[in-house]
Amino acid sequence: MTQLRFNGVVGSRGLLAGPLAVLRDTAAQARDAGTPEQEAAVLKAAIESSVESLSLLIAESEGAAAEILAFQVAMLEDGELSAEAFAAIAGGTAADAAWRAALAAQIEVFASADDDYFRARSTDLTDLRDRVLRALCGSEEGDVGLPPGAVALADDLTPSRFLAQEWAGRGIALRAGSASSHVAMLARAYSVPMVLNLRDVPEAEGTLALLDAEEGAVTLDPAAGEQAAFAARCSALEASKIRQAAFLTAPAATAGGAPVGIFLNVTLPEDLEGLDPAICDGIGLVRTEFLFHGHEGLPDEQTQVNAYEKILRWAQGRPVIVRTLDAGGDKPIPGLTREEENPFLGLRGLRLCLARPEVFKVQLRALLRAAPAGTLRIMLPMVALPEELEEARALLIEAATEVGFVGDLPPLGIMVEIPAAALTLDRFAIDFASIGSNDLVQFTLAAARGGNGLERLQRADYPAVLRLIAESVERAARRGIEIGLCGDAGGDPALIPALLATGLRRFSMAPSAVGAAKEAIARSADHG
Ligand code: PEP
Ligand code: MG
Repeated sequence: MTQLRFNGVVGSRGLLAGPLAVLRDTAAQARDAGTPEQEAAVLKAAIESSVESLSLLIAESEGAAAEILAFQVAMLEDGELSAEAFAAIAGGTAADAAWRAALAAQIEVFASADDDYFRARSTDLTDLRDRVLRALCGSEEGDVGLPPGAVALADDLTPSRFLAQEWAGRGIALRAGSASSHVAMLARAYSVPMVLNLRDVPEAEGTLALLDAEEGAVTLDPAAGEQAAFAARCSALEASKIRQAAFLTAPAATAGGAPVGIFLNVTLPEDLEGLDPAICDGIGLVRTEFLFHGHEGLPDEQTQVNAYEKILRWAQGRPVIVRTLDAGGDKPIPGLTREEENPFLGLRGLRLCLARPEVFKVQLRALLRAAPAGTLRIMLPMVALPEELEEARALLIEAATEVGFVGDLPPLGIMVEIPAAALTLDRFAIDFASIGSNDLVQFTLAAARGGNGLERLQRADYPAVLRLIAESVERAARRGIEIGLCGDAGGDPALIPALLATGLRRFSMAPSAVGAAKEAIARSADHG
């Protein structure tokens, strides 16, 4: 075979050279069907045992993995998914065929959705389909024993399949898949390099594969020169990881010694497990909408209080910016957000909260009750107009009365992610602001975020975006309020010099980005 290169999309960063190992589907096995009553009982038992095995897995997991599995349990326990299968069984269909057909319709609905988030959820349903089918056929899913250093090839992977497998020192190449799928999130959480969307990679079992999950490509049977260049990149990546580790707990400062605040973006309290608070100056963004996923209904007030208190306590007095619910856009929440033709420009973020004050007030009350556990700041997402801020403030004051809050209210700030807010920031009566570069870029360049082939337009270092950021920084300075940036650009070493040049001195990022960001800041000149 001669060298073949396939381009895809990065799911989880890293580099790996190793033998290609094809991961095959383990779900299907023949079984003998009984009477409709027997088949219904068998399916019921299979669903119950699947819930049980998922619950056991949850007990052993933490963070993103536990949350994803809890989402699956909620889907299985929701009778809607199985009702169609039981109806087919009553009409004489075998349990496995009925379950397969019922799930096929649902999988198809998700797989053909316009929205990348919904498309990615079809893998969760495939996972549930296969788990119940395995329970019906009495077959087990286990570690198939991939060779050391293997690059596993599959069409797509389900979260269960990922969790059943030992990945240390191995990587993943998928022909399909999405970077916002749960399995990609798991790969990032476990630092397993992953490239997606590789389309036609052949099942060349055992062939040497170079998995380039930095650029998003796989090369099969590479020439000697290619192998040597790849090995050099692997060594350089390892060396940079070691170098960056040295920056982790030191305060960030530019080459000229100007201090820069480094904050963390988190989704759930579990993201902080095992992290040393000394690596940061606080939490710059808690994306609370993730608390609202994977539950039956919305999380109640006490569940929210517990989550916010946990994060505040972890920070040991450092400031914690909790963003109120930013549902909608690429983060729909069943039962709360509405289906819209153009969800990014629709009823999302603060707009949705103001339209659903009964949901928003639960969150505000929970935040105020959790406030004594640390240094809380409250941030509102997707704000365009000062009036929206004032409506939210009025609800916060009402919530404070309802919970008997005494003392000063926590500082209130807004995300700057709509150009209108950037251009008029000095008109908002706020205590702080944080630039959401992910949304600011999409609204400035009129290019929706996400894998849609518009990547060329999705850069935060275009002059139009940098001007809006500089404008926001200047207007915040005029009012004497703190401003930072919490979009993905803040954790990108390649963008940090341009962002520092706008006058920004506070960045919030994923915990895994801190070492590289501090290193990039230390190499940057002072500006402004
Ligand atoms: C942003 O838009 O940059 C941001 C931080 O918010 P999110 O990515 O959650 O929309
Ligand atoms: Mg945003």
